[in-house]
Amino acid sequence: MTLKLIDTHNRVHKDLRISITDRCNFRCTYCMPEEGLEWTPREELLTFEEIERLAVLLVNRFGIESIRLTGGEPTVRANLVDLINRLAQLPVDLSMTTNGVTLPLMAGKLKTAGLDRINISLDSLQRDRFNNLTRRDNLKQVIEGIDAAKTAGFDPVKINMVVMKGINDDEILDFVDYGRTKKVTVRFIEFMPLDADEEWSNDRVMSLADILEVISSRHELIPLQRGNAPAARWKYADGLGEVGVIATVSEAFCESCDRVRLTADGKFRNCLFALKDYDMRYLLRNGATDDDIADLFLSGVQEKWAGHQIGKSVFIRPSKSMSQIGG
Ligand code: SAM
Ligand code: SF4
Repeated sequence: MTLKLIDTHNRVHKDLRISITDRCNFRCTYCMPEEGLEWTPREELLTFEEIERLAVLLVNRFGIESIRLTGGEPTVRANLVDLINRLAQLPVDLSMTTNGVTLPLMAGKLKTAGLDRINISLDSLQRDRFNNLTRRDNLKQVIEGIDAAKTAGFDPVKINMVVMKGINDDEILDFVDYGRTKKVTVRFIEFMPLDADEEWSNDRVMSLADILEVISSRHELIPLQRGNAPAARWKYADGLGEVGVIATVSEAFCESCDRVRLTADGKFRNCLFALKDYDMRYLLRNGATDDDIADLFLSGVQEKWAGHQIGKSVFIRPSKSMSQIGG
């Protein structure tokens, strides 16, 4: 019988994000410091066997339905295709979030290995601005990566754009045009206080309402059903695709959150903004049974709070950045 990964607020968790590395080949200003971070030593990362054991347990015992691989940058982990092959054996929707730079080489292999869906992060279509934001001169490769993902058969390909006031908010309509022309789904993400440089402030957040106002000035939008998905969605009234906004800050969707996380070093987190985590790696490496591991997952989920408190005086910023938690 499948148990439920249920918390005290009656939320049943079905979506698992696994960070498979905290390393990255980019240094996005809103995520990492210029010099990078102190990477977790290889022996402290969960091995593929360990990741597989936890994933199998979560799927078979607790009915996890979707797994997303993330990081850091997941494509820098050696032998990624082997991990995809293993996880693709499970009855889950298997997806990945990537900065896209290696996709011209890898997209086909990832699809063949069994990856179902892909999200690619891109925050500017202007070369100079892209270089400033990522501290890398790779816009061309990322655009080619998006094309390679489409050619490989990923459908839809989703583009994640973090919108920051005064930095790239003047490109919202350019991204709308890009999405409609290229037939990719653009999702605008509100800037969250998880940047390693700690430069986040509420004034920099381009809210869902702000973003919608810009898009609506050009296009008629029709709301779509959201379910438990983090993105609020609309389709364009003229039928040319859809657009989403992830409004973690201005319109938190915590009451319908069904997501749990594993960090690259094997810590279980019940919320992106959690201040506490649960050491699964210790159990895995010290002879724990599946029942022991399942118990820690259950108690970790039960302690989940009702929601984060961003913007309120009680909010405490997690000590880890987005790249260390797994965005
Ligand atoms: N490296 C991969 C990538 O960039 O897609 C996966 C990891 S990244 C941490 C996952 C997502 O988090 C990306 O879409 C990125 O834009 C987003 N992200 C990182 N820092 C953020 C922040 N401070 N606020 C909002 N989104 C952020
Ligand atoms: Fe790397 Fe992704 Fe963070 Fe950019 S957002 S620094 S690509 S982990």
